[in-house]
Amino acid sequence: MQCFVDVVLPIPLERFFTYKISPKEADFLEPGMRIAVPFGKSKIYTALCHRVHQNPPEAYEAKEIHQILDEIPLVNQLQLQHWQWIADYYMCTLGEVVRSALPSAFLLESETFILLNKNQEIDESLLKDDEFLVFEALQHQESLKVNDICQIIDRKNALPVVNRLLEKQVVLQKEALYEQYKPKKVRFVRLSEAYETEEKLQGLLESLKRAPKQLQAVLSLFQLQARTKNPIKLTNLENNAKVSKGVIKSLIEKGILEDYYLQRDRVEFTDAPLNVSIELNEEQEKAFDHLLVSFGRGRKVALLHGVTSSGKTEVYMKLLQRTLQEGKQALYLLPEIALTSQLINRLLKVFGNKVSVYHSKYSLNERVEVWNNVLQQKEKAQIVIGARSALFLPFSNLGLIVVDEEHEQSFKQFDPAPRYHARDAAIVLAQYHGSPCLLGSATPSIESMNNAKKGKYGYARITERYGKVMQPEIELVDLKEATKKKQMTGHFSDRLRLQVGEALENGEQVILFQNRRGFAPIVECTTCGHSPQCPNCDVSLTYHRHKNQLRCHYCGYHMVLQNDCLACGSFTLDKKGFGTEQVQEELAELFPDAKVGRMDLDTTRGKHAYEKIITAFEQQEFDVLVGTQMVTKGLDFRNVSLVGIMNADSLLNFPDYRAHERSFQLLTQVAGRAGRTKKRGKVLVQTYNPYHRILQQVSTNDYAEMFENQLYEREHFKYPPVVRIIKVTLKDKDFNKLNEASEWFAGALRNLLPHERVLGPEYPPVSRIRRYYLKNILIKIDLGHSPSKIKNGIKRIEKSFNAISQYKSVRLVYNVDHI
Ligand code: ADP
Ligand code: ZN
Ligand code: ZN
Repeated sequence: MQCFVDVVLPIPLERFFTYKISPKEADFLEPGMRIAVPFGKSKIYTALCHRVHQNPPEAYEAKEIHQILDEIPLVNQLQLQHWQWIADYYMCTLGEVVRSALPSAFLLESETFILLNKNQEIDESLLKDDEFLVFEALQHQESLKVNDICQIIDRKNALPVVNRLLEKQVVLQKEALYEQYKPKKVRFVRLSEAYETEEKLQGLLESLKRAPKQLQAVLSLFQLQARTKNPIKLTNLENNAKVSKGVIKSLIEKGILEDYYLQRDRVEFTDAPLNVSIELNEEQEKAFDHLLVSFGRGRKVALLHGVTSSGKTEVYMKLLQRTLQEGKQALYLLPEIALTSQLINRLLKVFGNKVSVYHSKYSLNERVEVWNNVLQQKEKAQIVIGARSALFLPFSNLGLIVVDEEHEQSFKQFDPAPRYHARDAAIVLAQYHGSPCLLGSATPSIESMNNAKKGKYGYARITERYGKVMQPEIELVDLKEATKKKQMTGHFSDRLRLQVGEALENGEQVILFQNRRGFAPIVECTTCGHSPQCPNCDVSLTYHRHKNQLRCHYCGYHMVLQNDCLACGSFTLDKKGFGTEQVQEELAELFPDAKVGRMDLDTTRGKHAYEKIITAFEQQEFDVLVGTQMVTKGLDFRNVSLVGIMNADSLLNFPDYRAHERSFQLLTQVAGRAGRTKKRGKVLVQTYNPYHRILQQVSTNDYAEMFENQLYEREHFKYPPVVRIIKVTLKDKDFNKLNEASEWFAGALRNLLPHERVLGPEYPPVSRIRRYYLKNILIKIDLGHSPSKIKNGIKRIEKSFNAISQYKSVRLVYNVDHI
């Protein structure tokens, strides 16, 4: 009897591929095991077993597999089911999902590079013969391809040997390694509390007269303290006092000075016994109970809507505790950038070594380890914190998924396929496990809130900050007026300048937020703040310099740019925005003594740059942090009393139907960084348009009204959640061919879908990327209509399209639920 196996290859191949296997292999194989298979002329891939059967493929002669690589499945049934759902829903292939789901160490192929692991003492006597051959070869060459290794060991398939060597950590797979960041600890000094009274101090100074060096050091400390309210670094004192280290050391030993660290613990896995009980306050307790009841009644998805700093994390932790008590696994998803050590440490303090972190920036070894721990249901990995890719781990017993900051757009993967939304995929995953899924946010997305309102999701609220800390006071500063009254210095209104000065004098820290994203600038009247809008869509028009046009990127509407403002008639249209760098420069002139740090894409490129800046700010190494939206994410800075928004208009005018929702979210989140302790924080929002609805809603904290308005507009202009959106992008290097092809495709879509709205083809804002021209077609699908039927229809069009020889080079990209 001849047996066959269908495998999933980790490439964008629509179908399964079939290989020959022996009956014995057929007996042994289970779905989710890895198999090394030949593909193409000389390539070897790691594929996943999908199904064993006895039907030879019709179109080709099946080849034999090379080898089975696993003894038990690496991927379980639930995962395969979930991945298939992702492939179907997001219109990509299962192979593409597999490629992004598995750590690449599990997917060795003939082109993979292998290096010697120089960090490991290797006992050669423990290596098998073939392993030793590879080991020896790597003494002479920096790296080897798996293909080269085949020749070295004189075998067709080297994957098993390489896998063994990887497991023994003799070799490493070539990759950009990411070591965990360990910040330097900064030591500070201060006078001991014992000498704080006038009397004690006099006595001290008297007694130190016999130790002039020590006296000098103490006086020097007073001098430094007079100059700044910031903590004094030990090194600073040493330099200023011009005394030796020993002098200060003996002062500390005598208990006259005291040294301390400002830094909070970062990721540190301890074995310390934990007996932390989580005491919720009344409002949190109510929310918690409410969620339990809701889950208990079988409504498995719920939204926890709690203002910033209300203790949502505490509620999550309490739920996590329950999950662990039930002996189940839990997944805690965070948006990429917010994967901060601050939060990880809080969880570690409560759950200790039951917490694992899974992150694409961690080394392959660490990721493989977490994968295996989850697969074996080890206690170490009972709770996994991770960014979106943690969804793909081999959970078999999930009891809870938390999606924190569910409104964050970075949950949507943009490139490459699968272009999935991690929140939505998490909801589906939870369903497969029959487990609850909790979405949390201070500013829920319109879709999630809509689902809560419709009763599809459970809903719980926390309206007060923990400890009754007051919400920051939000003040809108009218830039138009300030300009008229000549109260501006660069981009700083007098009001903002004053407040920054005051905060600095009090030794408090300041965050200044300037969003500078987008490509082509937006036109804005500096007199009235008006920026031209598209008549068909709820978006601002974007300025295109080469044609001197204003264009809508959604429907293609365009108009010639006028010289005068359409609203007020002034000739004061401004096309230029300003960025964080400029804010930093202006600050240096206004406050020459202030130390200023900057956090944006440019300053956070390096390996640990992001964490370094956060740590430095936490340690009060600088007074002001200027940043883009990176500064908004879940960070907890104790000493920040003032947040300044340099210009809210650039957010509001972003050409996107979500611009208003996002502005509300962003401004509320960044405001949430201010005044997290007793003292009430202050937020200054500079704007040309203080009467803009969204700004009013931000300043009065009126989420409910914002939601109503936005939902109304989505209904009116047909945007999600009132319709579903699929964006089709066509790419080609040939401009004319692209235009022809996209017209053809749009035409076919209109034929197929007479009842949906097919918009475009339209050039995206950036219409050429890496020499490829781009065009977008937007399909809006009414909620009543079956999206899966429509997706199948689109796939059929794709087949006909691919059969047209002159369009062969044109690439198609689907983005389902494009945001
Ligand atoms: P959120 O997640 O809603 O932004 P957090 O959970 O970060 O809020 O809470 C804000 C601060 O208040 C944190 O420092 C947290 O430790 C503290 N906090 C909140 N709730 C409690 C509680 N029940 N017991 C002790 N501390 C709490
Ligand atoms: Zn105007
Ligand atoms: Zn439009």
